[in-house]
Amino acid sequence: MMKEQVEKLIQEQLIEWPLVSQNFAALGKVQSKDITVGHVEYRAQFNPARIVSSAAKVDTKSIQERKCFLCAQNRPKEQKGVRYKQYEILINPFPIFPRHLTIPDINHVDQKISNRIADMLDLARELDDYVIFYNGPKCGASAPDHMHFQAGNKGFMGIETDVKSHTGQLIFKYKDASLHLLDDAPRNALVFTSKNIPDLTNSFELLYKLLPIHAGEVEPMMNLLAWYDGLEWVLVVLLRSKHRPSCYFAEGEEKMTISPASVDLGGVFITPIESDFKRIDSRVIQDILSEVSMSKSEILELLSPLKQ
Ligand SMILES: [Zn+2]
Repeated sequence: MMKEQVEKLIQEQLIEWPLVSQNFAALGKVQSKDITVGHVEYRAQFNPARIVSSAAKVDTKSIQERKCFLCAQNRPKEQKGVRYKQYEILINPFPIFPRHLTIPDINHVDQKISNRIADMLDLARELDDYVIFYNGPKCGASAPDHMHFQAGNKGFMGIETDVKSHTGQLIFKYKDASLHLLDDAPRNALVFTSKNIPDLTNSFELLYKLLPIHAGEVEPMMNLLAWYDGLEWVLVVLLRSKHRPSCYFAEGEEKMTISPASVDLGGVFITPIESDFKRIDSRVIQDILSEVSMSKSEILELLSPLKQ
């Protein structure tokens, strides 16, 4: 069973890889605080080790000049993996979750979700105690040149319960799959549910075809989260209008090193800098979400060909 192999990998890496044991131990002591935006509960986590990702330089020049940390030949010698299809399951040495995995393709190919939704849903079933997530190349991925998913243990991100407690507005049904728009502005999560992978994959494709691709980019801007609850799959699509919020680029007092990706939009905002952790509140989260998420009216207009 892959689930047991992965659990064994985690236990071994925690013992054998000093950086991992140190960073997972530090995670046990991180500060966090709860913040409400509208009727949605978010959390802020003060996590200094995550500066490597939040402040990652992801412009083309910087990416070309560094050695890809997801390619097998460049990984630390301590890092071991579990093979699954054309992917390898690795422990994430800079964790946000008590159980945090990185799942790169075995080949160095661009971060692109097209034709990989079924893989994501297969992973969600195999690792059914995890949420599998995907950050678009311009939406928080720190290796936009190397295809990868991540996984974090269930019961950590608020979005899991938000999806259960707020059904939202039905956008369309396709065979066994349905798509709802949650009433969680300014985040505006789109939620697919289905009891089978082909219907969910096909209905995602229907949505995907309607989304705009900005000049110079390879796919529509999005973050995805998927999990399997034993009966059906849930796939959350967070459409983005922007990568990093203006506070990320501000100078002096206004600057906040917050680079939102799946986990932040999923309910846990990561702040590697202590002063940012102290400052982050309902207003800050609301402003960031409004800035980086596609608006409800834009989503409804884009999806109007699907509406029933
Ligand atoms: Zn690579």
